[in-house]
Amino acid sequence: MTFDQTVFYPRGGGQPGDTGTIARSDESSLGILDTVHGGNGEVLHVISGAEGLCIGEEVELCLDWKRRYAHMRMHTALHLLGAVVPFGVTGGNISAARSRLDFDMQESLDKDQVTSLLNALVSADHPVISRWITQAELAARPELVRTMSVRPPQQVERLRLLEIPGVDLQPCGGTHVSRTSEIGCLKVSKVEKKGRRNRRVHITLD
Ligand SMILES: [Zn+2]
Repeated sequence: MTFDQTVFYPRGGGQPGDTGTIARSDESSLGILDTVHGGNGEVLHVISGAEGLCIGEEVELCLDWKRRYAHMRMHTALHLLGAVVPFGVTGGNISAARSRLDFDMQESLDKDQVTSLLNALVSADHPVISRWITQAELAARPELVRTMSVRPPQQVERLRLLEIPGVDLQPCGGTHVSRTSEIGCLKVSKVEKKGRRNRRVHITLD
C-alpha cells in the first residue's frame, strides 16, 4: 500500500525495511510488517488486514523507532568499519542486533584492534553529513564508490552522498545518525574467512 507521504525506509542497501503501525481516525490500528521499493520510486508498505482501508482516508503512520534507530546506528557503524578496513566491500547486511560487511581481502584481521579503532571513531564524535551529487560529478570521482556489489542507481539525476569528514565519503541512500557518538560502544564479534579473497566482519552494538 502507498501513501501520499511517508517516513518509512524501504528495504535496500542491506538495510531492512521499516515496520510500525497505521493509526486510523476510529482509533483502531493496523500493523506495517515491512516496507519495500515498488516501481517508479514508490514506497510500498506491507500491511496486515489492509482491506478495511479506503482511498482518501487520513491516517497516521507510526514508525517502530527503537528498531529503526538501531538500524541507523548500525548503518553508520558500517561506514566506520569500511573506513577502518580499507578494502573493497563485496556485501553486507544490517539488523538491529548485529551487522556485517564482506571485504575483498586475503589478509587476516585482528578483532580487538578493529574494535578499538571503531570505538575511537565513535568517541571522536565526528559529524555525519549528507548532501547531493550529480551523476556527472560522481562519474568524475569513481574512487567514491567503495561497494563492489551494489552500484549506485544510474537512472536518477542526483545521488545522496554521505560524508563523515576525514573518515568516509561515498554515495549512500540509507539512514544514519547525525554524529558518530550516537552509535555507542561497538564490538567486532567475529571475523570469518569466506573464501580465499573474502573476510566477513561481524559487529554488534554494546
Ligand atoms: Zn550509509
